[in-house]
Amino acid sequence: MSRVRAMPRQHLVAGLCLLALILYPIISPWEPYPQGVILLGFMLAIQASSWNIISGFAGYISLGHSMFLGLGSYTVAICALRWGVNPLWLMPLGGVTAVVVALLIGTVVLRTSGHAFVIITIAMLLAAQILAVNFKGFTQGSDGITLELPFWSRDYQNIPFYYIFLALLVLTVLYTAWIRRTKFGTGLIAIREDEGKAASIGVNTTRFKIVGYAASAFFIGVAGGVYAYYLTFLNPVGSFAILGSVVIVLAALTGGKGTLYGPVVGAFIVQLASEAATVYGGGSQTRVLLFGAALVAVVLFMPAGLLPTIEARWRKRHPVTVEFTDQAGALGRSPATTRERALEDVAQAVADDLTQGEVLLEVRGASKRFGGLVAVDNASLIVRKGSITGLIGPNGSGKTTLFNLITGGMAADSGEIYLQGQRIDRMPPWQRGHLGLGRTFQVTRLFKDMTVQQNVVAPLPDSRWRTMFADAVSGHEAARAGELLDIVGLRRFAGERAGDLSYGQQKLVELAQVLMLEPQLILLDEPAGGVNPSLLGRLTEVIRELNERGITFLVVEHNIPLVLELCDPVVVFSRGRSIAEGPPGTIREDPVVLDAYLGDDWRPVPDGKAPNSVQTANQTGAR
Ligand code: ADP
Ligand code: MG
Repeated sequence: MSRVRAMPRQHLVAGLCLLALILYPIISPWEPYPQGVILLGFMLAIQASSWNIISGFAGYISLGHSMFLGLGSYTVAICALRWGVNPLWLMPLGGVTAVVVALLIGTVVLRTSGHAFVIITIAMLLAAQILAVNFKGFTQGSDGITLELPFWSRDYQNIPFYYIFLALLVLTVLYTAWIRRTKFGTGLIAIREDEGKAASIGVNTTRFKIVGYAASAFFIGVAGGVYAYYLTFLNPVGSFAILGSVVIVLAALTGGKGTLYGPVVGAFIVQLASEAATVYGGGSQTRVLLFGAALVAVVLFMPAGLLPTIEARWRKRHPVTVEFTDQAGALGRSPATTRERALEDVAQAVADDLTQGEVLLEVRGASKRFGGLVAVDNASLIVRKGSITGLIGPNGSGKTTLFNLITGGMAADSGEIYLQGQRIDRMPPWQRGHLGLGRTFQVTRLFKDMTVQQNVVAPLPDSRWRTMFADAVSGHEAARAGELLDIVGLRRFAGERAGDLSYGQQKLVELAQVLMLEPQLILLDEPAGGVNPSLLGRLTEVIRELNERGITFLVVEHNIPLVLELCDPVVVFSRGRSIAEGPPGTIREDPVVLDAYLGDDWRPVPDGKAPNSVQTANQTGAR
C-alpha cells in the first residue's frame, strides 16, 4: 500500500469526527468562544487540504497560499458592497477569482521545473498586499473595507459560520479525494516523484502543474469570501499576511503532506497551539517564533508528518507478508485466455498507418555535446516498422543519450528526428508519447512509493481532458492496467508498493507501464541488465509477443547472445555514431565491430565455429 492511500479505518475515524463536529453546536449552542476556535480550525484545514493538491501531491511548495484567501475576501467584499448583495451569495466568486489568478501565475511560472515557483509564490503574496494598499478606488487602501454585520441574531453569531466552514471543509476533502483518484491526481504524484519520467509517459507536466495550482486555489478563495463576512472587516496587511501562508504549510507538514487527512489533522493541531499561544503568552511576535520553531521541529523529527508516521508504526506491528520470488512458476501467470485477450487489445491499439518495413523512426544527423564531450556525434539511425532493432556499443558510446534525444528527455544540439514522417525533435516528451513513442530506462524509474497498479495506470496515451480526469483507481483505466500486468505476468503484485518488487520485476512493470501509452515504438535501454535468467526468458518472450502484434522495438543491450537472437537488424554505435548496421549474422563477423566493441573473444576461430561462450561483450571497449 502506498503512503498516499488512506487506511479504510481512517475513513471511519473521519466520519465519527465529522459527526461529533456536526453535533457539537447543537449540544452546546451557547459557547461562541470554542465554536470560534474550531471554526478557524476548519478554515485552516480548508487551506491546508487545498495547498496539499499542488504542494503535497505535485511537490511544488507554495509559500504564498494565503494570498488566495485574501483574494477571495476582497472579491466578495468589494462585489457585496457595490451590488448591495449579501456576501454569502457571492462566495463562489471568491473561488473563481482565486482560480483565475492561479491560472495566470501558473502559466508564467510553472512552465519550467524547479525552485522558481517557491520564490514567486511569496513575491505574489507581497505584490497582492501592495496592490490592495494602492488600488484605493477598489480596495479603500489601508483603511480597509467594512462589511454589514450578519443578519442573524448575535446570540447565534458563530453557528452559521461554523456550519458553512464545516460544509466547505467536507467539500474540500471530498474534492481532493476525488482528484487523488483520477489520472490527474496520479500524474501530480508522478510529477513529485520524478518529473522527467512523468513527461516520458505522456503526462503533460506543464498542464498538470498549472491545473493543479488552480485547483488548489478554488476552495481557499471561497472560504476567503465567507471569512470576510465573518470578520466584517478586512485590510491589506491582515488579508495578505505571510504568517497565514506559513501556518498553512506548518499544518500540512505536521499532519502529513500528500495524504488525504494529514492536512486536516495538522490544521487542528496548529490551530489549537496557536490559540494556546494567544491565550497564555504574548502577541504575534511570540507566535512567529513559536511557528518557526515548530516548523523546524516537524521537519527534523517527523519529516513525513503525523499520520504517515503513525501509519508506518502501525504497519510495522502488523506486517503484510508477501513472498517475492523470481521463479517463473511463481510469477502469478493469469489464465492463458485473459492474457491472450490483453495482447489482442494491445494489437488493436497499434494503428496500422504503416506497413511492415516502412521507416517508423528516423534520426538524421543528431548531435549532443556535454561541454567539451561529444556524446552523440552527427548520428543517423533508421528503425523500420515491425522490427526489433538492436543498438549495441561500448559504455559511453552515446546510446542512452541518443534515446534521450529521441524521447525528448534532452534537446539535441542539431539534427532532426522523425516519427512516422512527422518531425518530433521540437516537441515536449509527452507529445512524443502521445504519438506512440514509449521508453524504459537503463536504471528503472518506477514511482517507487506508488503501487504497481498506480504506476501502470499513470501514463496518458493522449492529451484529452477526459483521459486526464478518468478514474485511475477503478473503472476502465484500472481494468486496463490489470490487463497490461497480465501480459507481463505480475497482476498479483498490483497492490504492492513498486519499490518493494525485485529489480527484474520492476523492469517488467516498467514495460507494462509503457504499454499504457499505446505505443507504436518502444525504446528499451538495457532491459536485461540486472535481471535474473528466469525473468529474462519471460522478458524476451513478452517482447516477441508484443512485436508479433505490431509493436516495433529499439533495444540497447550488452547481452550479445540475446541481441543476436532477438534483434534484426543490429546497429553498432561507437563514439556517438553508428559504425555498422546489418543482420546479426553479418554484424558478429564485421571486423570493424570486432575491433570497436565485441573484441577478440568473438573473432571466428580457425576451425570455423563461431564462439558463443561469452555472455556479454567487452563493455568498456574502445570508444
Ligand atoms: P551509453 O548509454 O552508450 O553507455 P551515454 O549516452 O550514457 O552512453 O553517455 C555518453 C557519454 O555522455 C558518456 O561519456 C557520459 O559520461 C556522457 N553523459 C551522458 N549524460 C550526461 C549528462 N547528463 N551530462 C554530462 N555528460 C553526460
Ligand atoms: Mg546507457
